[in-house]
Amino acid sequence: MSVTIRFCGAARTVTGSCHLFETPAGRLLVDCGLFQGPKTLKELNYGKFPFDPSGIDAVLLTHAHIDHSGLIPKLTSSGFRGPIWATHGTIDLCSFMLPDAGSIQESEVMTLNRRNAARGRALVTPIYTQRDAIAALDAFRTVDYETWVQVMPGVRARYWNAGHLLGSASIEIEFAGEGASGKPLRVLASGDLGPDAKLLQPDPEAPAGLDYVICESTYGDEDRPPVTRESRRGHLAAEVCAAHAAGGALLIPAFAVERTQELLVDLVDLMSRGDIPAVPIFLDSPLAIRATEVFRQHAESQEANIDVARLLGSPHLHCTETVEESKAIAKLTGFHIIIAASGMCDAGRIRHHLKRWLWHSKATVLLVGFQAQGTLGRFIADGVKAVRIQGEEIKVAARIRRIDDYSGHADGPELARWIAARRPIARGVFLVHGEERGLAGLSERIAERTVPAAKVFMPLLDDLYELTTAAPTPLDTSQRRRLRPEAVVNLDWHNDMSKLILDIDASIEAAADDRARGVIIRRLRRALEGEA
Ligand SMILES: [Zn+2]
Repeated sequence: MSVTIRFCGAARTVTGSCHLFETPAGRLLVDCGLFQGPKTLKELNYGKFPFDPSGIDAVLLTHAHIDHSGLIPKLTSSGFRGPIWATHGTIDLCSFMLPDAGSIQESEVMTLNRRNAARGRALVTPIYTQRDAIAALDAFRTVDYETWVQVMPGVRARYWNAGHLLGSASIEIEFAGEGASGKPLRVLASGDLGPDAKLLQPDPEAPAGLDYVICESTYGDEDRPPVTRESRRGHLAAEVCAAHAAGGALLIPAFAVERTQELLVDLVDLMSRGDIPAVPIFLDSPLAIRATEVFRQHAESQEANIDVARLLGSPHLHCTETVEESKAIAKLTGFHIIIAASGMCDAGRIRHHLKRWLWHSKATVLLVGFQAQGTLGRFIADGVKAVRIQGEEIKVAARIRRIDDYSGHADGPELARWIAARRPIARGVFLVHGEERGLAGLSERIAERTVPAAKVFMPLLDDLYELTTAAPTPLDTSQRRRLRPEAVVNLDWHNDMSKLILDIDASIEAAADDRARGVIIRRLRRALEGEA
């Protein structure tokens, strides 16, 4: 018999999570996420799946984040007819996050096509539409935590709280008779794991005694100082007070779901204690507004000693749902707080606010989450002097600040401890969902200390392994690779290109006079012709 796994996403990257399990009984996906970040990766969203969607029997979804769920509407619109198993919380979040993702695809493609038409290029169609996303919701089936569900003949699964997001799960999968001496083959996919002291979620849980563990590595290289509720609020209060002293707006690019609600709970609490000035907090994201409503409804499933419902109902909080309301905020001057998606600044209303404030030295941008390679948030975090937003060059003069206390992800030591608690792990640990540094950091923490180094694997995108052998056996994938391995790992040329254009602009502007500018332009021209 045979059980194989193909890493169809989140291999050497943090987005596009998708593992394909194939057995004689059928095919199973764990997650079906959207690729985000560099254009080379995002283009994969438009291409064909590396499998036939109509041949997939079921999807097991770890959580609602778009990099785990965002290609589900494309899967269903390309012929997938099976069930999508998810927890109650995940389904409630997906019921608006996926339609929202669909309308983002539609509007992004509309803008792109206006440009394509003007340049005489071929028009593109959206990855999927809002309608596809609404249709996909019919396939969702509820699964309770810690309860076995039969997903295919001979294959069952059990969900464990991953403490990362409302409804998030690590998924245990058993393939009957495929393990050592006729026992079941036991696999655990971590999904995304939360940190130990997360504000609204319990600590992660999972079983021990497995054949394989597939673990995320987002912050595998980081060792954060221990975070308590008090220290986290203290840091936030200090940042808000400093931003207030600077006198301009405080922009917080935030992931619409969970991170935003955690920030709101702390901001409102700090205001009501008088620790920070009581000013309007604009929640400028229709998605975050919906998510906040779901959090209020699920208030009882979250941490008992926080009155989530009361805090999220605060009069300091202004939800700006419509475009007109959103535009009205842009007229404000002086100190106020704007929380808008997306967290990595690569889409959403935050881009308008960045355009309005980024060049202003009195403004503050507070980054509160992971910034993937190639995103606008990463450029800002890395301290570039100028950025391009919707084709326009914007100088960066605002104060750029960062707090990592609100991370939804476990850090390196927490990930290593989570893996250690799963032992014995008979056959292997696959490290996924990380950039090179995170993967290397986590691998260093666990190799030999937790499991033998020979049992730690870091698959590339589209790698295929046989799992029924005593150790995972790599199978030939040369025919089926969608990207060259180095293309996944390195920042692609699109980013190098934007940086180059910004640098050219800057040096021409900085030149002493028009004659000096002419010299630079002629030299560049000669270099180009030399290349040709
Ligand atoms: Zn996540």
